[in-house]
Amino acid sequence: MNGLTWIRRDIRLHDHCALSECLKACEQTYLCFVFDPHILDKLTNKSERRLTFIIEGLKEIHQKLLKQKSSLYILYGKPEVEIPKLAKRLKVNKVFTNRDYEPYAVKRDHKVKQELKKHQVQFEDFKDHVFFEKHEVLTQNRGIYKVFTPYKNKWLELFSDSPIPDFKCNLKKLGSSQESFPDCYKLTGFKKTQNIIKGGTQEAFKLLKYFNINNYKEARDFPAIEGTSNLSSYIRHGNISIRDMIRFAHQSQSQGATTWLSELIWRDFYHMILATHPGVTKTAFRPEYDAIKWRGGAKEFNAWKTAKTGVPIIDAAMRCFNETGMMHNRLRMVVANFLCKILLVDWRKGEEYFAQNLMDFDLAANNGGWQWSSGSGCDAQPYFRIFNPYTQSEKFDPDGKFIKKWCPELSHLEGKKLYRPEEITPIVNYEQKRKECLVMYQEATK
Ligand code: FAD
Repeated sequence: MNGLTWIRRDIRLHDHCALSECLKACEQTYLCFVFDPHILDKLTNKSERRLTFIIEGLKEIHQKLLKQKSSLYILYGKPEVEIPKLAKRLKVNKVFTNRDYEPYAVKRDHKVKQELKKHQVQFEDFKDHVFFEKHEVLTQNRGIYKVFTPYKNKWLELFSDSPIPDFKCNLKKLGSSQESFPDCYKLTGFKKTQNIIKGGTQEAFKLLKYFNINNYKEARDFPAIEGTSNLSSYIRHGNISIRDMIRFAHQSQSQGATTWLSELIWRDFYHMILATHPGVTKTAFRPEYDAIKWRGGAKEFNAWKTAKTGVPIIDAAMRCFNETGMMHNRLRMVVANFLCKILLVDWRKGEEYFAQNLMDFDLAANNGGWQWSSGSGCDAQPYFRIFNPYTQSEKFDPDGKFIKKWCPELSHLEGKKLYRPEEITPIVNYEQKRKECLVMYQEATK
């Protein structure tokens, strides 16, 4: 039997479930990646950082394949057309791929499977992106967990009984092919960007090597220091596997490792929520929150997007984001809370802006993060928990290093004068808007 492994959000050649299964089952294994116009056409910025990141990862794979006298097939077009066409050309009997839980991907894969069937080619997908998938971590009554802590406890219980699999890939069994690596920018119509991080497995493991997991619990909330792994773009695009990360956490007994593992479990939790409640991409997880009459409009949203709110921590975070496509988790929580609960703008607008611009954009985690921040999500922050951006700055940017880096015009200020400068009038008054927010939420949820 000959097989084709279709690489999507798993751009790597090691610890890859579908590839490993394909190599085990087939005499000849080929690999492909498809640039899908349905996804690309939605990207408004033709200088798309994520595309450069993806291409770097694909190039790395291609280089490794060349050493095995093989190569990566790179296609552009509708997967339900391109995958069967390539399967026919290579005379493969089966297409192997890793499961994707996003609503569009589920529909797309169904179409691909149906088309392949017409050509007598089988299609099989595997669990790879998450450690436990949608129906594996269930309550005693076999229901879905809606609160994180009991979900985590159950996850840990199951985890203690199951070894961490390693889907080894014997590349010697690859089919020979001599496809040249195309000019992916020409193929897609996008421009190459200068990113501050480079895609690929090698880079991901470099970051893992330098990540001080033992200090994570103490350092993770301070955006001015390197306290987190910065691996989110790599796990999102699959340059590193979730099992690599869990294995790394498992090697240490420290509090930091326990806290980090907990974040990886949040990732599984949000993927489970998206897979079992795909409607969250449009509506609030708690339906009563869809009755909120958002009072903020274009003026507030534009000020937030363009870093012109007059609140230093918000503007510094948004400048950093607009320039790099990256934002520290503490700042994501602060700016999201500020948009919904102080500027009173519908969380979906912020979610969309993040989706367009985040290097590590992941539908499950982004939707989960926004619904958590607005209070509408499953196990979300209560609606009356409103972050004060000035005290958040004092607590999490105690020397003002982060604000000064991104708002150098404020460098002459210190302490409270930096966090809330007298000479700047913010777009809204925090204390007043806080009260208005409580009324707005109470009106909808009473
Ligand atoms: P670390 O702190 O080193 O954590 C390790 C890994 O755990 C991360 O790489 C990520 O894969 C996972 N993780 C950590 N925190 C969370 C979390 N709260 N939810 C789910 N997974 C988590 N994360 C994304 O990967 N993509 C997104 O699109 C995304 N959007 C978000 C939007 C909002 C409003 C909020 C509040 C959070 C969002 N997050 C998102 C979660 C989190 O902010 C990032 O995962 C984290 O900042 C990435 O940095 P890191 O790799 O250094 O994380």
